[in-house]
Amino acid sequence: ADMERGKMLEAHELAAKLYHYLLLNTTHGAEALQYLRNRGISDKLINQFSIGYAPPQWDTLARFLTARKFDPQLLERAGLLSAKNDGSGHVDRFRGRLMFPIWDRDGKVTAFAGRVIGEGQPKYLNSPETALFTKSRTLYNLHQAKASIRKSKQVVLFEGYMDIIKAWYAGVHNGVATMGTALTEEHCAVLKRSAEEIIVCYDGDDAGQAAALKSIAMLEKAGLKVMVSMLPKGKDPDEYIEEYGPEAFVREAIGQAVSATKFKLIYSRKNHILLTEEGRKNYLLEAVGIVAELDSSIEREVYLKELSREFEIDLHALKQDSFHKREELQ
Ligand code: ATP
Ligand code: MN
Ligand code: MN
Ligand code: MN
Repeated sequence: ADMERGKMLEAHELAAKLYHYLLLNTTHGAEALQYLRNRGISDKLINQFSIGYAPPQWDTLARFLTARKFDPQLLERAGLLSAKNDGSGHVDRFRGRLMFPIWDRDGKVTAFAGRVIGEGQPKYLNSPETALFTKSRTLYNLHQAKASIRKSKQVVLFEGYMDIIKAWYAGVHNGVATMGTALTEEHCAVLKRSAEEIIVCYDGDDAGQAAALKSIAMLEKAGLKVMVSMLPKGKDPDEYIEEYGPEAFVREAIGQAVSATKFKLIYSRKNHILLTEEGRKNYLLEAVGIVAELDSSIEREVYLKELSREFEIDLHALKQDSFHKREELQ
């Protein structure tokens, strides 16, 4: 089993080198390279993240690796090749895609994500779960981010590859992302081991905000201090950096991140119509419930005072409700 693992790792290492070479040195790769440049990805970033290109042919990687005496069956188990339907051999799993190597925390390539160039479905194709790669445990870029995370005790959580890469360019070197799956308790445990604080920096669309809400709950449960980046409507970090520049990203999106409680209050507010008395009341009840979850009575008081001022409700009444909500939580 150890030998099989070793062979799989070796195959991934070679595949990453091949894809990277093909991106930078072939005619087909030129189109992919242009696509990356149009998206603001410099050669320096291409090298930093070992981005590559899998050509559209069926057997580029298959031929390259079998010529180096790799067993096609093993390469299939490693998720690099797929068996043909008629059982007559193997084809490359990734074709005509930009290739993002995925590393384990030691920096060994264990999987790939392949993005279509331009439009097309699926947008990303990932390696399957293999002996090397478990989605529910893997955080993209952790191997490069861990030094910065250790130093700052802080980590930034993104949704996608492009976000990580553009944030890196902006000088945010403590970013990680899940692999197109929801955050898991295993991810949280990994994060908790090296960081105290986390900034959730998901896409500023409905899906991103809903996902943020779920991730926040898990991260808080794991004992991390959670902050949330508030991106303008519809923008993801990558688009934000393209449009407003790297300095603005660091200053506004990261620097002005709000507390998890603030984020929950903003989110809840959007779901109530504050123009009606009924809407205001329902929002207040939900808001008090959110505040009641805070363990610090000072923090609770700060938020309750804000609510009391804005809605002209007696602070005492809010405190009393919050107290009862806390009793229910115990
Ligand atoms: P780009 O990464 O090109 O900027 P995007 O920002 O529109 O595209 P999203 O749809 O926001 O991408 O997806 C964010 C992340 O979710 C991706 O980086 C990827 O990790 C994951 N993802 C998206 N689509 C898929 C898919 N079809 N299969 C697996 N993972 C996906
Ligand atoms: Mn999205
Ligand atoms: Mn996105
Ligand atoms: Mn994007």
